[in-house]
Amino acid sequence: MNTYHDKAKLLKLLAHPMRLQILDLVRRSEECVCHLSAVLDKPQPYVSQQLAILREAGLILDRKEGTNVFYGLGGKDVANTLTAVLGALFANPRTDAALGHERIAGCCCPKCTAEA
Ligand SMILES: [Zn+2]
Repeated sequence: MNTYHDKAKLLKLLAHPMRLQILDLVRRSEECVCHLSAVLDKPQPYVSQQLAILREAGLILDRKEGTNVFYGLGGKDVANTLTAVLGALFANPRTDAALGHERIAGCCCPKCTAEA
C-alpha cells in the first residue's frame, strides 16, 4: 500500500520546473551549486534549497572534491524516472555533442573556469 504513497510523493517532488531542470542538468554531468545558479538564473540560496529537497528524497547525490561540492543523479532508478518524464538523454544522436557540461559565460564554477 505504501508504494502508491511513495510514488505520489515522488511525483509531487518532480512537479516543479526548477527541480526538473536541475535534474536534467545533473543527469548530463555533475555540477556544483554555482553553475546551477548561473544556468537557472536564480540565487544560490534558492538553488541550495532545491538541491537539499532533491538530496533528501535520494534523487541526487553530492560528492566533495576539494572545496567544491558536485551534484549528480541518485542512481539508475532516478535516471529511468527522468527518461520517462523528460525523454531519453540521447534521444537525438546528432545532438550528442550538446549534451554534457555546457559552459556558461561569467560562471565561476570549476568546470566553466577550467582551461579548455
Ligand atoms: Zn559553470
